[in-house]
Amino acid sequence: SMRVEAFVCPFCGALCDDIIVETGNNGDVKIENACVLGTRKIMARTRGRITKPMIGGKEVSIDEAIERAAEILVNAKKPLLYGFSSTSCEAHSAGIELAELVGGVVDCTSSVCHGPTILAIHEVGVPSVTLGEVKNRADLIIYWGCNPMHAHPRHMSRYSTFQKGRFRKGRISRKVVAVDVRPTESTKLADEFIQVEPNRDFEIFNAMRAILNSGDCRGDVIGGVPKEKLKKLVEEMKSCQFGVIFFGMGLTHTYGNYRNVREAILLVRDLNMYTKFAIIPMRGHYNVTGFNEVCTWQTGYPYAVDFTRDYPWYNPGETDANSLLIAEDVDAMLVIAADPAAHFPKQAVEYMKRIPLVVIDPFESLTSKLADVVIPAAIAGVEVEGSAYRMDGVPLRLKKVFEPPEGVLSDEEILKRIISKVKEFL
Ligand code: SF4
Repeated sequence: SMRVEAFVCPFCGALCDDIIVETGNNGDVKIENACVLGTRKIMARTRGRITKPMIGGKEVSIDEAIERAAEILVNAKKPLLYGFSSTSCEAHSAGIELAELVGGVVDCTSSVCHGPTILAIHEVGVPSVTLGEVKNRADLIIYWGCNPMHAHPRHMSRYSTFQKGRFRKGRISRKVVAVDVRPTESTKLADEFIQVEPNRDFEIFNAMRAILNSGDCRGDVIGGVPKEKLKKLVEEMKSCQFGVIFFGMGLTHTYGNYRNVREAILLVRDLNMYTKFAIIPMRGHYNVTGFNEVCTWQTGYPYAVDFTRDYPWYNPGETDANSLLIAEDVDAMLVIAADPAAHFPKQAVEYMKRIPLVVIDPFESLTSKLADVVIPAAIAGVEVEGSAYRMDGVPLRLKKVFEPPEGVLSDEEILKRIISKVKEFL
């Protein structure tokens, strides 16, 4: 039996690091502190696993699968390596190296979630803080276009709304505002819910900046919100001691796209003339932030990096996975730690079916069903250690509680072995 404390939950971007996992001799497992999603991830290791390497649906040895994967990447003119949000930074580093070696493109799931956030940050920077500072200091918390109770179930209890902090007594010393297009289980927990019209966030932030900077704005109702309500909100933001906006895909995947986030950041920047204010994206998968970090160290760019010119080239909208698949501009694909067939538009998935596809994953998925080569992987953060970055950019060390199935390698080892094979071929 074994008891692992301060275990890091490898599911969502909140990366809770206070989980306790106890394993008994008779195979029973006890998990403390994790939410339903986290518990499910930690317990998932026995269900739906890919058990054997396969080529064309036939079981092969791991060496054969690795050799075939390397061959596919070397023979392609422009292979796409995609995924990475549910694996360790060590695997990211190897994946980026492999993409450069084979002269392909490397991209992560950012391009379909917070990619626009990153584009906004390129333009105007980001006044950010850690979740620890939010916990200890924030007296005004705004959740905008996100539903933490659904996607990051412990976010409100561990880092913000309900948590006690050094200078805050918990729920009573924090004001919580939720802004969304419809009521959700999270908006119910807020002191105030501001319902906005879909696709009008840019106008609302812009009006709030006008109110903050000049005392007034044009129009009586902006994006479905009466001006007086916005004035009250701006006053609350201006007069709090430490405020934070957490935002989700309600800003990044609606009209305005990265401009919404840009305007939200500019509002936060303006607010810092009066008080301390910060803004943090609610990053979804547990280590999508890690990929952006590692990719930036290694290539200078955070995602969607094209190596076909022998130097890194970055142009989201052209070099991201979806754009490349829809333009039929890649001729092979390796997917690791993600399930694009479940999330990409039909046109992109149809094209994925037509090109050689290698999938590395612990679990069967819609994508693994389409693959020509399937390589089973150990579950990062459950069966192998590694590093991951929380949504606020704080790196944490993933722990291991179980042994991987016999003969199953980690993502990092698989990628490193593909790299060695590719070097033999080149
Ligand atoms: Fe895991 Fe996220 Fe739940 Fe925390 S909130 S336990 S990181 S799934």
